[in-house]
Amino acid sequence: MRRSLAFIIVNVLALLVATLPASAVPQLPDKHPVAVGTNGAVATVDPLATDAGLAILRRGGNAVDAAVAAAAVLGVTEPYSAGIGGGGFMVIYLAESGEVVTIDGREEAPSDPDFDRDVFLEGGVPIPFFPERVTSGLAVGVPGTFATWVDALERYGTITIAQALQPGRVVAQRGFVVDETFAGQTAGNLPRFRVITSTADTFLVDGEVPEVGSVFRNEDLARTYHKLQREGLAGFYGGDLAAEIVAAVQDPPVIDDPPFPVRPGLMVVGDIEQYQVLHPDPTMVEYRGLEVFGMGPPSSGGITVGESLNIGENFPLDAVDDVTFQHHVLEATALAFADRNAYIGDDRPQYNYVPTAGLLSQGFADERAALIDPLAAAAKPVAPGDPCDEDGSVLCVPNAAALAMSGSSTTHLVTADKWGNVVSYTLTIETTGGSAITVPGRGFLLNNELTDFNSTGDGPNLAAPGKRPRSSMSPTIVLADGEPFLAVGTPGGSTIITTVVEILHNRIDRGMSLPEAIAAPRATQRNTSTVGAEAAYRDLYEAGLTSLGHAFSGRSEIGAATGLEFLPDGRLLAAAEPVRRGGGDAGVVRADD
Ligand code: GLU
Repeated sequence: MRRSLAFIIVNVLALLVATLPASAVPQLPDKHPVAVGTNGAVATVDPLATDAGLAILRRGGNAVDAAVAAAAVLGVTEPYSAGIGGGGFMVIYLAESGEVVTIDGREEAPSDPDFDRDVFLEGGVPIPFFPERVTSGLAVGVPGTFATWVDALERYGTITIAQALQPGRVVAQRGFVVDETFAGQTAGNLPRFRVITSTADTFLVDGEVPEVGSVFRNEDLARTYHKLQREGLAGFYGGDLAAEIVAAVQDPPVIDDPPFPVRPGLMVVGDIEQYQVLHPDPTMVEYRGLEVFGMGPPSSGGITVGESLNIGENFPLDAVDDVTFQHHVLEATALAFADRNAYIGDDRPQYNYVPTAGLLSQGFADERAALIDPLAAAAKPVAPGDPCDEDGSVLCVPNAAALAMSGSSTTHLVTADKWGNVVSYTLTIETTGGSAITVPGRGFLLNNELTDFNSTGDGPNLAAPGKRPRSSMSPTIVLADGEPFLAVGTPGGSTIITTVVEILHNRIDRGMSLPEAIAAPRATQRNTSTVGAEAAYRDLYEAGLTSLGHAFSGRSEIGAATGLEFLPDGRLLAAAEPVRRGGGDAGVVRADD
């Protein structure tokens, strides 16, 4: 993207955001799940983040600028899901070249040779997942989020990181109104947060959950953002902050006599200093004439979404009844998950060969689709297939299945600008509340992303020094005739994949609008004996699907999606959840009257 007059305008005007009066009393902002208009769009889970993105767009910034500014606000208002202590994946459509590019800002394991496949075992037994493995220095990966923001702006943005952090810094200083979701997430974390002194100091009020309706300020984080505004990348990946992150990982600040052990991690300052974002090719499948782009390894998102769609393409999903449609989607995602678990992990040469081409080939998907019985659910788990013939590489080795699941935190945002650039960005600190370890005096939580490694068994996702754990994050951009059509994504651990598949099918095959596709009831079949499903989904489809052999287990809520669409008349539609996780917020630069 060319730097232009917009650059100067943004330079001047972004500073105005800094002058928002720190004394103004924050109000609980309105949320809008849908917005239609022109000149740019933003959808996030939070109105303050959406507003920050829109403000940057209005001042002449582009979609990348807006995405980074919005993400930096989410680091303040959604501190248990996102922030500079975590990682994520950004997929970007560049209007000028028509290319789709990615940034892999995934967390990385420490380089210590002891961070091997047995790192989460003690006496041959896995460390209990909750609360011990998730609340440990061992689970903390080198954060990639701040490097992602800096890289995105340097390569594709028009504003500086100092400008992009400014709205977040202001929100951290002024505070925001605690809503039910924030209070609920804090309450869910109380037993962990009370154990880590720096976290109790930062996120609890006298050891308790901040009250709904009260104003929550994070002055430590405001100061950290200010430091990063002055120092840029070096302010995070070196110097005192890097040393403090390592100190918190190696020696978590724990109360006396904690109710469970908080294990130290193996990260050293050198691990932080050497961290770099990567730029893997996006994944791409053609689905019903559209091009669906996603994130490749170490995320399993793009491949597993792509394979599921390719399997689904074998069936007339637009013409069948609702139960038959749901049956085929559930069976397709189960098959794709078997392959995900068997073949996908960090695909850098020192770790794994991932047969991405084979897994994404239509030929392989057709073989998998032939296993679907239209009248009966397969017994789960189904076995993985063999994509090696389709892949064609001598490095491809047929593999056995290994199952891994992950949590339900994270956040997704989308932006588009008036030039047609689009960003689809999922970022996370893994579990809601991450490792529960706040870097003392710095106002942000460290991730526990390394719990995404498999702790036992075999397969491509075992821990190793310097490796990035497999993710399910699926930031997606869909092109029609080479032009942007849709962008979508969601949090939800490994349910991310099934949610993105459902939304795409609902929109592309089932005649739903994007807001309808996002609001529709959800289920998730990840090659497990039961289908996890929301109550509304079970009300509609359980009887019919049970008669085909599916078994169900309840889930209160799956995902918290955001998306945007380029409408045929040239307008933009931005969409967020109307209800899940308290609802999200969609906005456009120039709204329709
Ligand atoms: N750690 C998960 C992943 O990378 C995301 C966490 C979540 O959404 O719960 O797939």
